[in-house]
Amino acid sequence: MPILVSMKGDKKRRHAALKSGSRPPARLSTATSQQADESGQWRRRASDDFEVVASTSSGKIGMNITDPDGKPANVRLLRPPRTTLLNPSQPKNEEDQLDPHADSAVGGYRIIQLSKCAEMWNTCYKEHLAQGNECPGNLHFDASREVKVGLAWKQALKCDGCSYQSDIFKLYEEVDTGKSGPKPADINRSLQIGLAETMISNSAMRTILLATDIPAPSAKSMQDSANTVGKTLVALGQESMEKERNHLKHLNTICGLPADNPIRAEGDCRYNNALRSAGGTTPFQPATQAVYTICENNTPKKKIIAVSVTNKLCSLPGCKHNSEHCPSNLAKEESIGNERAWAYECAKDLAESGITIKHFTTDGDSKQSMGVSDAYCEMNINTTVENLCDPGHLSVAQKKKIKTASFSQNIFPAKTQDAKAKLQAKLALDIVDRCKAEFNNCHQALAGDVTKMATKLTHARDCLIQCLQGNHKFCSKKSFACRGTVRNHWSFNRLGDIRITPSASDETMLAHLIDMRLGGPAVKSTRLNTNTQKCESTNRAYLRTNPKCVTMTRNFSARIHGAVHSLNTGHAESLLQKTAAVGAKITGRARRQLKSEGKVRQQRKQLAQSGKYKKRRVARVKKNYTLHNKAKVSKPQVTYSKHMLDMKLLGNKHDVAEEHNYFHSPLKAVKEHSYAK
Ligand SMILES: [Zn+2]
Ligand SMILES: [Zn+2]
Ligand SMILES: [Zn+2]
Repeated sequence: MPILVSMKGDKKRRHAALKSGSRPPARLSTATSQQADESGQWRRRASDDFEVVASTSSGKIGMNITDPDGKPANVRLLRPPRTTLLNPSQPKNEEDQLDPHADSAVGGYRIIQLSKCAEMWNTCYKEHLAQGNECPGNLHFDASREVKVGLAWKQALKCDGCSYQSDIFKLYEEVDTGKSGPKPADINRSLQIGLAETMISNSAMRTILLATDIPAPSAKSMQDSANTVGKTLVALGQESMEKERNHLKHLNTICGLPADNPIRAEGDCRYNNALRSAGGTTPFQPATQAVYTICENNTPKKKIIAVSVTNKLCSLPGCKHNSEHCPSNLAKEESIGNERAWAYECAKDLAESGITIKHFTTDGDSKQSMGVSDAYCEMNINTTVENLCDPGHLSVAQKKKIKTASFSQNIFPAKTQDAKAKLQAKLALDIVDRCKAEFNNCHQALAGDVTKMATKLTHARDCLIQCLQGNHKFCSKKSFACRGTVRNHWSFNRLGDIRITPSASDETMLAHLIDMRLGGPAVKSTRLNTNTQKCESTNRAYLRTNPKCVTMTRNFSARIHGAVHSLNTGHAESLLQKTAAVGAKITGRARRQLKSEGKVRQQRKQLAQSGKYKKRRVARVKKNYTLHNKAKVSKPQVTYSKHMLDMKLLGNKHDVAEEHNYFHSPLKAVKEHSYAK
């Protein structure tokens, strides 16, 4: 029996000590007892919660508990349990502690080559049997001996009934690099080919793998593979462009022209960031990567024949930016918007392959065609480059001018300024559409005869002004787009049944505005009816491999060249060629899937270019505008207007009103919103 030793005052002390589950003592009762639960028990909070609300002073005596406003809170907290304070990295939940697959067995998923796996099992099964001890055990993957090779695996088997252990098997195909050392797994190379085709990066790929319970390759090994594959992609891209240049020369000879007959081409530049302003972060142009593309316009396929890649970024530690491994090729202080220089580089490249450009279609933003001339001057090439305008960019400029033109008060059948502005915007879109139709039909009818076209289009212009007033009297003879009959005449998709009543000065102004697209100089500069649409669609395709939200510092050029190869060769064929070039293969089911996917893509592309699809698109636009014209919005509500509240705070009502009109129309709000661009 234990001996109980008691001393004087024990009873009193037992009463004073804080026991588990005891109620808060009377002296704390002034504080709101939120820390005590329903039963009135005191609980220690988790260290995460405690750290958020309480700050201990430097000597760790006393603590400050504050509410979100920073005011002292009227509560008292017990400090978190001692164990979590001592070792915060300790697992917090039981799941982490009890991982059934921790080390003893291979769990989850692995990517392995099937025939290699079958070979391993068959070999091991026979070996195990050949031991002759009639062991009833089962074979298992040996977790302690599995080796990760990027995405691939080396595995071994063991028996749970005896001491049998197999050799280690490589469950992947090896790539013969011709170098000493371990041979890389083909899947690690082909993974990088796949990634370069899409917008996801190595870190995103790792997240996908981990989410699917597949151990991910290390970030470094993935980057190393990407660098190796990158060189192949650049070479393949250049090879495909060289092939297209030779094909152009071949086509020239088929047409009975000299092989080096100057060609038609289009060019445009794409930047990873806007060129305008960096919002105070840098005085330089904020773009850090640019790619200049030239596509041929001799054939309807419009293949990419030259690219120039400019990169200001380099993430190599301690790099002096002069080695061959440095991805940066432009100094920070240089202008990245120098499209003349990038066009010069491309033209020089083309000239070295025996291709010169005679008609060069560009947007009106920079002096790209002068860059081509510079190259020919330097190389003593006797070809004069003529710069043609892109009709799309001309139309945008025309639309802006019509929208902001000051017509007379009575031209639109509307009462308020706001309603008139809306109608003017619709008029701008309709005139642009009609001009496009007039030009295209005229170009087709007169086979591009500039003088005739300029005269005929002047008549078409006068006719259009009458047409807008509902008078189709001259249309049947002078217009290329309006038949002029009661049943069959041009319908303005946006204005619908609304007619304008222009004054004499309005008519003069309208004539000037229409001349921006149908006048003599405009007709001359767009006489071949070429555009930069292929370059723009190429820029959008670059977006797939080089999204603007992910910066590919090291492999920017590789991803661009990969996209060029894909666009010139076709998605499926390009992927097959690329994987073959890095020593990998796409076989069996995957190959069949890839080919059928390629077919579907091709069909979708053809559908998008078909007349049926275009008609459907136009009908949809018309439907939306008809609905908008019918809707009677007496007092439109402004739901979004940039700096709407900021300006009110500053008392600048004028600025609020200006933005006001702009965002009334929900259609426009979506279209012109900066996020939509
Ligand atoms: Zn056994
Ligand atoms: Zn560098
Ligand atoms: Zn008409």
